[in-house]
Amino acid sequence: MSRIEKFSRITRSLRFRVTAGYALFFCVMLIGVGAVYRQKLSASLDAQIRDGLEQEWAAAKGYLRIENDRPIWYYDHNDPDESFIVGRIQRVYMLADAQGSVREISEIYRSIGADTPAEVATATRSPQPIWKVRKSAQGSPYLIHAGAIYDEQHEKLYFLAIGRSLADNRHILEQFTWIYIALIPLVILSGCLLGWYLAARALTPVLEVAQAAQRISGSNLSLRIPSRGAHDELDYLIETFNRMIGRLENSFNQIRQFSTDVSHELRTPITAIRGQLEVALFTASTTEQYREAMLNALQDIERLSQIVRALLLLSQAESGQLALQKTRLDLCRLVADVVDQFQIPYEEARLRLSAELPVECFAEVDRIQIERMISNLLSNAMKFTPAGGEVRVTLRKETDGAELVIQDTGRGIEPDHLPHIFDRFYRVPGPESSGPERGLGLGLSFVAWIARAHGGTVHVDSTPGKGTRFTISLPMEPVMPAPPDSADVPVAPGMNEL
Ligand code: ADP
Repeated sequence: MSRIEKFSRITRSLRFRVTAGYALFFCVMLIGVGAVYRQKLSASLDAQIRDGLEQEWAAAKGYLRIENDRPIWYYDHNDPDESFIVGRIQRVYMLADAQGSVREISEIYRSIGADTPAEVATATRSPQPIWKVRKSAQGSPYLIHAGAIYDEQHEKLYFLAIGRSLADNRHILEQFTWIYIALIPLVILSGCLLGWYLAARALTPVLEVAQAAQRISGSNLSLRIPSRGAHDELDYLIETFNRMIGRLENSFNQIRQFSTDVSHELRTPITAIRGQLEVALFTASTTEQYREAMLNALQDIERLSQIVRALLLLSQAESGQLALQKTRLDLCRLVADVVDQFQIPYEEARLRLSAELPVECFAEVDRIQIERMISNLLSNAMKFTPAGGEVRVTLRKETDGAELVIQDTGRGIEPDHLPHIFDRFYRVPGPESSGPERGLGLGLSFVAWIARAHGGTVHVDSTPGKGTRFTISLPMEPVMPAPPDSADVPVAPGMNEL
């Protein structure tokens, strides 16, 4: 793998993206917090200077008297506090008359520039003191508080301005800014490292799951990803994944079983046909013998095409290609018609076939499929009930649907076989399951599919030696059919789910 590929693989990884997101978030947060904090710090430092200047302004008015056009500072020279305050006021200070002619000015004030007569006039006329920031020639900023002051006789107006350096404040702010800027990469770097580590910790189990999933292939679908026992989202994912593999395993097994069954089923008639043809070719000498061999071969071909037809139909049904053609019809008449069709074969088999039906029972069903379902059940009942037995068909109207019961007094089904009778090609071993007249083992698969496609269920009860009862529940209202093999078909406890 080239370096570029490696790099692009890392940048595409979830770990990288989580870390990058984390770093970006940190960066934006730090810059935002820093800007707000710097603004607050600057405002609070300036407010301190303003407060100090306001106090000094009040003090200046007390200590400074203007007599005969001359400023005189009255204070106790021996008092260190007063001397300090006055000294401080006089550091950045200017006094001028109302026309702007300077009476007294400190060195520093001169360096930041004495106020012009126009500025003096504005300040003396203003009812509020004026605040402004001035810079010295060296670029040092000063906050100036200027306003009017009267002379001792309260006759003449003068201009007084005092100031304080803002250099310390600016210096503190600058220091704060640089330290903060220097800290940002450090904080982001440690944030990235922390994010990288946390992302790795969070994602390691995901990689483990992916590696475990990679070991699972078509040939070892029995493998499962071990649960971590943390009962967290990842365990939920593992559980869901395992359940999905379970379903896949089931489908795989069914397909494998199905291919084995199909090849087995097809092999028997093909071998028989081959035998018949060999007989015809090598041993038959009379027309009669040829005819018999051909007839036998034809019978086996007929069985072969029966299997293929049934398989095709079943696969169409289960893959959803066989759509139901539902119409609203009277189930009673439909059941009665099918029962009528079976009367003669039942008589020939010396069986009694009776039906107990309500006056009418309308439902939305596919006529052909429901007929096929009842025919399959009736022909099974006929096949597996010995002569002299009885088969009873009962249709009942229920509150939410119809219930069709087909009960025979036949040989019954052993409990071991019951769960499998709806599987394709499943035949309970017995005299009927071998020999040329044996069934295909597909009839009940159809019954199950038809019931399910109508949103219904099939329930089977059987007592070996006494008889079997198939109960089909069909909802009356048209409902969405459940998908084939769905586990959601409602099944009452103790019933075989189909
Ligand atoms: P087949 O074509 O063999 O009848 P089905 O799928 O219809 O295939 O039935 C599967 C198996 O279930 C049958 O081979 C038979 O052993 C058993 N079976 C079905 N119906 C009955 C019944 N009414 N009485 C006893 N056994 C039955």
